[in-house]
Formats: sequence, C-alpha cells, structure tokens
Amino acid sequence: MQAINSNSQGLFFLRNTIKLIFLCKVLKYSIKGWVMRLIKLYDFNGIKGYKLGWSVFGPPLMTVYCYVIGDVMVDTGQSHLQKEACRIAGDHHIKHIYLTHHHEDHSGNAAAIKKMVNAGVYGHGITKEKLSARFKILPYQKYAWGKAAPLEIEVLPQKTQTDLGDMTGIHMPGHSKDHIVYHIKKAGVLFSGDLYLADRIKFFRADEDIGAQIQSLKNVLTLDFDTLLCSHYPKRENGKKHIEKKLGFLEDLYGGIIRLWDKGVPERQIFNTLGLKENYMIKYICFGNVSMINAVRSAIRHYETNKQRIG
Ligand SMILES: [Zn+2]
Repeated sequence: MQAINSNSQGLFFLRNTIKLIFLCKVLKYSIKGWVMRLIKLYDFNGIKGYKLGWSVFGPPLMTVYCYVIGDVMVDTGQSHLQKEACRIAGDHHIKHIYLTHHHEDHSGNAAAIKKMVNAGVYGHGITKEKLSARFKILPYQKYAWGKAAPLEIEVLPQKTQTDLGDMTGIHMPGHSKDHIVYHIKKAGVLFSGDLYLADRIKFFRADEDIGAQIQSLKNVLTLDFDTLLCSHYPKRENGKKHIEKKLGFLEDLYGGIIRLWDKGVPERQIFNTLGLKENYMIKYICFGNVSMINAVRSAIRHYETNKQRIG
C-alpha cells in the first residue's frame, strides 16, 4: 500500500514538475516584452545602494542590492538586470569588485562588468573555484535572477582602501561555505551579504549550515558597526540589534530542535512539535531547495557532525 502511495506521489510530482517547467518557458517568452525593470538608488552615509529587481505587475519580488563606494563595488546583482548593473559600473568607473559569495544573485554580473571596465574581482578561495566554471542552478533561480557567467577572480587581499576607510573581508560561513562579510570600521559599516536577511527566517536553503551561521553571527557581533548593508534588506542603523535578534532566533530554533532530537524524536515530529510552518507553494516551486524542514535537517546535521568530531 505504501509502495503504491509513494509511486503515485512520485508520478504526481513528476507530472507537475513538467507542467511547471513548461509554464515557465511559456511565461518567459510571453512576458519578456513587458517586464518592468526596477533600479532604485539609496544613499547610506556616502555609500550608494542600488536596488535591482523586475516584475510583470506590482512591486518587484526578490530584489537585490549592489553597493558602490567610490570605484569599489560590493556584489554585482542578478544577471536579469545586467544592462543596469553594467551602467552603474560604467558611471562609477568601477575598478574593484568584492563578492560576498558565489550565489547567482550576487555574482550574476561580475563577468560582464569585468569585461566591460576591466575591473579586478575578488572573493573567497571557494568563490574563485565555484565561479571558474558555470555552476548548476535550479529553474526558480534561473527565472528569478538568471545564471552567473563563469569568470576568473582573485582571492581577496586582507585589506582594501576605500573612500570611507580600510575595508576588511572576513570569512563568515553558514549561508554558504564561501560567505564573506566586508567591514569598514571607520565608517561603522558592515556589508553582510546574505548572513542577516531578516530577524526571523521562514525558509532555509538545503545547503545552509545553521550551526555555522550561529557562530558567524556571534563573530560579527564582535565588530564595530551600526549600518548593516544586507544584500536584500539593508538597515541604515541599529545593525547590531538586528544581528542580535537573528542570533537569538537561530539559537532558540537550534536548541529546540536538538533537545527533541536527543530524546530520539524524528525530524518530522520535531517540526510539528515546535509548531514550525511550511509554505508548500514556495517549497514546491523551489523543488525543496528552500523550505523550513531544511532548518531542522541542517541543525541535526551540524549537531551530529560536531558530535562525531568531538567524540
Ligand atoms: Zn546567497
């Protein structure tokens, strides 16, 4: 009976996945002409924040920021907004690009900008490796942001001079293995990439490491800053308070999961006992790559790996 159920579930999933891919293809060609492209400029105490996004109607979803300080750019935005990102780089005569991590909404225009203005591109060693060839993304990532073209980048130097003071890149893994934050102590600014995102998180990627994120958030709190330049939801002030809130949320979540796991409670039951909620629409569209059950799995994975290391 169970085998029949899982077979019919598999067929249901396959049939709907094919329908979704077909629908995306139709949508791609029918809406291409009337997509609205958004580019909005904000000033964060001398740092220019360009918000890039697109929509067919209503406000754009999943917008991405790239930041400019003099001739330095932090992250390059999604490749669907390549024309706009290249124009920003050209207008500011960008010479150096610093990437927080390899994900396509951050590195999406690095290759095009490098080619156009001959800028140096820097990031973590893993980012360099990831970007040396085209990396795989899922259909939802392709439609939301677009692919990132491969390029040669350099491993970032310890410090970089900017118009607002020295900028230091610090490895803060968790969201991804190669994640870096950039700190300008003199200006009280932290470019946090995808380390922060929100005080409370509703979705986790399948490859995220909650334990490493908790440690990174703790490490970030030892730095001096007030302006938190997140790549999706920047905070002009009280940046550390927002980091503290996210840290508290993740610690509570991690603690709750592990307490139950240690008692032998299975992951699905942990999810239900903690009253966690799943947005099945998002989970389905993202092929399970983005969901709340990923948080439970990530915490257990981190805990078990650490236990083995210590044992
Ligand atoms: Zn990311």
